[in-house]
Amino acid sequence: TNTDPESAADPGALRTPIVAVLGHVDHGKTTLLDRIRGSAVQEGEAGAITQHIGATAVPLETISEMAGALVDPTDFDLPGLLFIDTPGHHSFSTLRSRGGALADIAVLVVDVNDGFQPQTEEAISILKRTGTPFVVAANKIDTTPGWNPQEGEPIQKSLEKQSERATSRLNENLYELIGDLSSAGFSADFYWRVQDFQSNIGVVPVSAMTMEGIPDLLTVLMGLSQRYMKEEMSIDVSGPGVGTVLEVKDERGFGATLDVVLYDGVVREGDTIVVGGRDDPIVTEVRALLQPRPNAEIRTEKRFERVDEVRAAAGVKIAAPDLDEAMSGAPVRVVRGDDVDAVKEEVRKELAKIEVDTAEDGVVVKADTLGSLEAMANALEEAEVPILRAEVGDIAPRDVTVAQTANEEKHQVILGFNVDVLPDAEDALDRTGVKLFDDDVIYQLVEEYDEYVEELERAQQETVLDKITKPARFRILQDHTFRQNDPAVVGVEVVSGTVQNNRPVAKFEGSEPKRVGSLSGIQHQGDDVDKAQAGERVSVAIDGPTVGRQIEEGDELWIELPEKHAKILEQELASEIRADEIEALKAYLEKRRKTDPFWGK
Ligand code: GDP
Repeated sequence: TNTDPESAADPGALRTPIVAVLGHVDHGKTTLLDRIRGSAVQEGEAGAITQHIGATAVPLETISEMAGALVDPTDFDLPGLLFIDTPGHHSFSTLRSRGGALADIAVLVVDVNDGFQPQTEEAISILKRTGTPFVVAANKIDTTPGWNPQEGEPIQKSLEKQSERATSRLNENLYELIGDLSSAGFSADFYWRVQDFQSNIGVVPVSAMTMEGIPDLLTVLMGLSQRYMKEEMSIDVSGPGVGTVLEVKDERGFGATLDVVLYDGVVREGDTIVVGGRDDPIVTEVRALLQPRPNAEIRTEKRFERVDEVRAAAGVKIAAPDLDEAMSGAPVRVVRGDDVDAVKEEVRKELAKIEVDTAEDGVVVKADTLGSLEAMANALEEAEVPILRAEVGDIAPRDVTVAQTANEEKHQVILGFNVDVLPDAEDALDRTGVKLFDDDVIYQLVEEYDEYVEELERAQQETVLDKITKPARFRILQDHTFRQNDPAVVGVEVVSGTVQNNRPVAKFEGSEPKRVGSLSGIQHQGDDVDKAQAGERVSVAIDGPTVGRQIEEGDELWIELPEKHAKILEQELASEIRADEIEALKAYLEKRRKTDPFWGK
């Protein structure tokens, strides 16, 4: 269905592999990217690297200059590497393509001194889930005590210049990192020992600061893409463009624009495109394709230059009408030759794959992009938290209204990932008591919510426990009648359970508890108390009976248990009450169930 005349002229062309950088905060992702970009500018001739929207292309020649002896450009036929400029797993999971990760390969940056940290773990689990090949950049080797920096050198050359002490300090850290990777389910080793990068993770010691080991990192990345990804890189570079929305941004003079990473085909000015929108896919026409102007002034209108067409892989800003409802993380497809409705259907299908399963009752989830929404949904499913509604966008009053309709209190909650709370929504939250959790680390968000639920359940059980009648078995002591009746006052010993004041008192006749009266006071060593526990001797006032008639010294008495309370105690609170309370409960149930086997069930 491709009617593009150029496609035949350019068969089997290879596109640039897309590289994402991930890792824990402060482990050096930004520095690493900046330094690779910066030195690419220095090394290559002017213009050797191209700044895209949201990405930087480093061509093969520049890489081979930076890598020195390690890369022979004739070994490679891939055009170079396209680095996504925003590091972190957030943009990584946003950048999805047809159910997988958009990035072809990833660099996981880990500070050698700091080792595995929460966001390292999270990045690992995303890489695992998406099956993305990656290498580990063990960063900041220059901070090893006694390090002798070798600016820009390959790691082996640098290691030759290090003292034995420094080398062994570094190795200790590196082995720990290799151990952590293996605990995470990846067999890993120093990259120079790795034969098969598909089944083993290569660890490359680097310093983003001194650029030691960067030649190695670039070499491994090129090697990895060339060896294992080449087939995926061979695309129809002139076919209709396919990409992913990185961000929807308002630009002066253009209105809402799309920052897109194009991973397939070509997009031209005037093309009809279909973009995933909040409701239905949006069909519109490309008004302008914009790239950053080299050495741009900051003034908005001059920041971009228009280009006629953009080929994959590339980052580009697309200006077109009607983009307000477009979603970050949504697919973008150029319509060329194919019928608009067919492409629309395809986009709809892609979006449906991301659609989150919702339940009758559950929490409201808001995330900034489709990719992060999907990641949230996965994490919540794992934590067995049902979702009532899941949407891309900031938290609006409507979300509060929806959260309020949840049945269970623990579900009257909004979980916001990387989103803002609109001012009206703040008021609505205050007014309704809907709880908001927001964080920009998914697992932390889920953890915070889990803790909240636990606390809530504990508190609920405590209130239930407060209101519930506890089982108690107690005995009237001999020679301890202080008053015959109105009320009867006797000394008792609590055998098991907890005697609470103001509860009906019963005496068993066979399996039938016969109510003898109701407790109206408890005194322990002369002080009024509201309960007495197993082992304690107290005096109790019982309204109703007369000692010597309905009750006698030596009698075994019980606090009468309402059937419903007995049931809750047995089925829900058994783990919350004391062993002697359980004993009293069991004894009570046993008596009652002699004639009514289903009592309290
Ligand atoms: P990010 O949060 O992962 O993007 O981390 P940054 O790139 O912002 O780095 C965090 C801090 O570590 C900054 O102060 C950097 O200067 C520093 N840093 C990054 N890489 C290195 C390195 O290789 N060596 C040293 N000594 N410092 C580094």
